Amino acid sequence: MAATPNSAEARDIAYHLHPVTNARRHQEIGPLIIDRGEGIYVYDSNGKQYIEALAGLWSVGVGFNEKRLVEAATKQMSKLPYYHTFTHKSHGPVIDLAEKLIGMAPVPMSKVFFTNSGSEAIDTALKLIWYRSNALGLPQKKKIIVRNRAYHGITIAAGNLTSLPANHTSFEMIVPDVIRLTAPHHYREAKPGESEEDFATRLAEELDQKIIEAGPDTIAAMFAEPVQGAGGVIVPPATYWEKVQAVLAKYDILLVADEVICGFGRTGTMFGTTTFGIKPDIMVLSKQLSSSYLPASALMINDRVFEPIADESNRVGVLGHGYTASGHPVVTAVALENLKIIEERNLVSNAASMGERMRAALRKLESHPLVGEVRGVGLIAAVELVKDKAAKTGLGKAGELGALVNKHAQENGLISRAMGDSMAFCPPLIITEAEVDEMVSRFATALDLALAELP
Ligand code: PLP
Repeated sequence: MAATPNSAEARDIAYHLHPVTNARRHQEIGPLIIDRGEGIYVYDSNGKQYIEALAGLWSVGVGFNEKRLVEAATKQMSKLPYYHTFTHKSHGPVIDLAEKLIGMAPVPMSKVFFTNSGSEAIDTALKLIWYRSNALGLPQKKKIIVRNRAYHGITIAAGNLTSLPANHTSFEMIVPDVIRLTAPHHYREAKPGESEEDFATRLAEELDQKIIEAGPDTIAAMFAEPVQGAGGVIVPPATYWEKVQAVLAKYDILLVADEVICGFGRTGTMFGTTTFGIKPDIMVLSKQLSSSYLPASALMINDRVFEPIADESNRVGVLGHGYTASGHPVVTAVALENLKIIEERNLVSNAASMGERMRAALRKLESHPLVGEVRGVGLIAAVELVKDKAAKTGLGKAGELGALVNKHAQENGLISRAMGDSMAFCPPLIITEAEVDEMVSRFATALDLALAELP
């Protein structure tokens, strides 16, 4: 579609380099310009309505027009639009939010450190872990364990913990000593006939083996999403987390739960940590922390992490890490109001019940010729698309089938995301029964249209 000269589309093509976009193809097809949002819907600049089946980027929990967040931001803007939290300074909203998060933590946590994006929070976790190892006189304890298909962000450090090819290829990845494990995806990685439990045992054995190979004393932490999100919504097999944690405990390796997508209700309980019985030392939070109305992220650390760090900052004279906008007053005020809304409106239990409905409706599509696997937990799911069910393969090129279904979904008023050949579903937590049904029905139409187009 050629953009009219001087149109918003043409100017976007002329001036804007988009993240996570094929820059060359963008010059041909231009942007989809979203103009406004309401509930689970967004509307493009021609007034066409779409269900936002990914809640933006897995993040707009309370929906796209929550007035209370606008009011919270306006009120704080008028009172104290900015202040920082360096050099012992603080303010009301950051104190209130820190207290609130520690109160919500599903396992004992000690302190909250505020950042602006998920990637920065992951970088911060990594830096604090290395700082702690040095503080403890264990400078060799620096290696980090992650799993294939992990997504932990894209900054220099977080980007290297991410384990997806497109986030690495042609970039320089400079963090050394990252140990990568098999993705916990039963459909793709299990051996024929292997039960979920046996697969989980094998993955825990792989972890143990890799720790021994690398040297247990050299490993600082494992970073993991309770459910891998951008890697394709990978729900770990039954018993996975208890077996993995037993291995980490044996070697005194810290566990960082990357709750950037799972946190605040997505998996049907407040945190993925609760859903899967995880006992992390650090929890990384973002996205639904502020419903992405403003960029917000944070990490919670327990006393095992905090105490050596406090000693080291005392020895050095300062904890030399922080951002201009760490604990920004408007951001923290909005996040606090957002968490109040999630609690007052019981959005976590809504996510659990609507999630059950969504997954049941998606599972009914399992007999469709293009559906290989439906997986999910709470209000997050993925449909893995295949052309050949027995061989579990898509079209010639990986991602081609996903792109085709995604194109039909968007034309049919459904914005989702194809991660390779998996379509993700992660709608706002406020979704209703009728909206769940409509979302799945639009997806079913997209599947039929894609099938009709195949040779
Ligand atoms: N961790 C997880 C699990 C994520 O899904 C993301 C983003 O999608 C990040 C970290 C990085 O967050 P950001 O894009 O805010 O840097």
